[in-house]
Amino acid sequence: MENIEKQINAEINLPSPPAIAVRILEAVKREENTFEELASIISSDPALTVRILKVANSSYYALPTKVDSVQRALAILGVNALKNIALSFIIAGELHPASEDAFDYDRFWKMSVTAAVSAELVASHTGQKDEDAFVKALLQDIGIVVMYLSKPDLYAKVLEEKRITGKPIETIEQTLFGCDHQQVGRLVLKQWGLPASIYDPVGCHHYRKYDRAKHSVANDILLLSNLLSACYHGIQSSARIQRIQKILTTRYEMDPADIEGLIDAVAVRSIEAMSFFDIDPGEMKPFSEMLQEANAELGRLNISYEHLVIELKKAKEEAEKLARELQAANVKLRDMALRDGLTGLYNHRYFHELLETEVRRAIRYKRSYSLIMFDLDHFKQVNDTFGHLAGDTVLAQVGQIVSDCVRSSDLAARYGGEEFVVLLPETDLKGAVILAERLRKTIEDAVFHSSDQEIRITISIGISIMTAQAPVENKAQLLAAADEALYKSKRGGRNKISFSGSATK
Ligand code: GH3
Ligand code: MG
Ligand code: MG
Repeated sequence: MENIEKQINAEINLPSPPAIAVRILEAVKREENTFEELASIISSDPALTVRILKVANSSYYALPTKVDSVQRALAILGVNALKNIALSFIIAGELHPASEDAFDYDRFWKMSVTAAVSAELVASHTGQKDEDAFVKALLQDIGIVVMYLSKPDLYAKVLEEKRITGKPIETIEQTLFGCDHQQVGRLVLKQWGLPASIYDPVGCHHYRKYDRAKHSVANDILLLSNLLSACYHGIQSSARIQRIQKILTTRYEMDPADIEGLIDAVAVRSIEAMSFFDIDPGEMKPFSEMLQEANAELGRLNISYEHLVIELKKAKEEAEKLARELQAANVKLRDMALRDGLTGLYNHRYFHELLETEVRRAIRYKRSYSLIMFDLDHFKQVNDTFGHLAGDTVLAQVGQIVSDCVRSSDLAARYGGEEFVVLLPETDLKGAVILAERLRKTIEDAVFHSSDQEIRITISIGISIMTAQAPVENKAQLLAAADEALYKSKRGGRNKISFSGSATK
């Protein structure tokens, strides 16, 4: 110990104690007239007096009556408590330069005050009577400030390495300074005249270097105060909370609700304590509240995620539905372009397209095709007698009859005004005649209705065929042959079927 003290004194420029701190410590040590002397020393410093009265009247002590003098504060709080409050202010003020600096003094003192509050709370919650808990925890890291103020550039390297490697700070300090902040802090407090009950625990407050058997309780308080402070001002809070819970349940048999209460109380009391030190607590709030907010935020995220998924699914379904509708509309549109509006059969133009490809196919594969062409007999009379609208109705119903009579492989079209065609693939003359006859008979027998009028009509049919034995060169030939046959039927008296110059009925 001697050696290290010598080494520190040689290496590090230890600050001399503030005069008022020395006077307070000496007055307390003398143990006679302490009360009056302490009151007079503190009262001689108006700023310090104001601070102490602020603390005494705060909810921290929750005293029933207003404390308006240092004497009253002393009487109510006791010499030791007041001495500790005074020393805390004096030392924190001394080692909290207001100047702009690379070292974050605000954060340092914020953490120190939180540790101090935590130490006091841990002491009372675990049933330890330790009046010095606050000041001990507050000053435990004072060595850091002292080392920094003495060699700022070197200490900046310590902080940098800590940031990069995450190694324990006292390990890095040992490497770069040959001593650590525990030893420096201990020596400063010792030289300033603070009691060994304060500087000894400060000298070894990091648990890993601590003699557990000797100092376990005091050390636990400092260790827990560090952990609690780091929970609020550091990262990895949940891991620290778990460690706190483990220590408090296994060594002090505290139940989880009490532990949670203790952790939350640290925030509430720290905010108040920081105001005594003129430190802005920032966004500090009880841990359970932070947890709740975090969970709520998580919940919101989950909800919005689920919502998003649902919305996306909906949008996808909507898009798929639209695509289906569009496809159906396109099919319909295309179909509309292909079909005749009145009869629903294929139109003239499309029939020609179909006929073109079918005839070519028939020629190439030597297939049989039949073409039926028919024309409504004396249709002009129908229009003249019943009106054009009635004529339209008849045409539409004829279209329906054609649709009903043909096979799905047959292609029926309205060829012109009152002329129709049916192309029959794989069908020879015999098959074509059967269908033609069915059409002729059905229409002959049908009673067409328009309004309350009954209309009867007949049709004249012409058939042409193309087979391997009787090939055609093109669709025009096939059409011309059918047309010719149709006029044969007309000439033959109508309501007839004709083929290649020979009427069959
Ligand atoms: P036929 O064929 O037996 O020789 O006598 P027709 O009276 O049917 O012959 P024509 O070719 O002289 O007359 C065809 C009539 O068909 C003329 C026209 O008014 C009518 N027509 C053609 N297209 C339509 C239509 O879309 N609607 C109506 N209502 N009548 C139509
Ligand atoms: Mg006609
Ligand atoms: Mg005609």
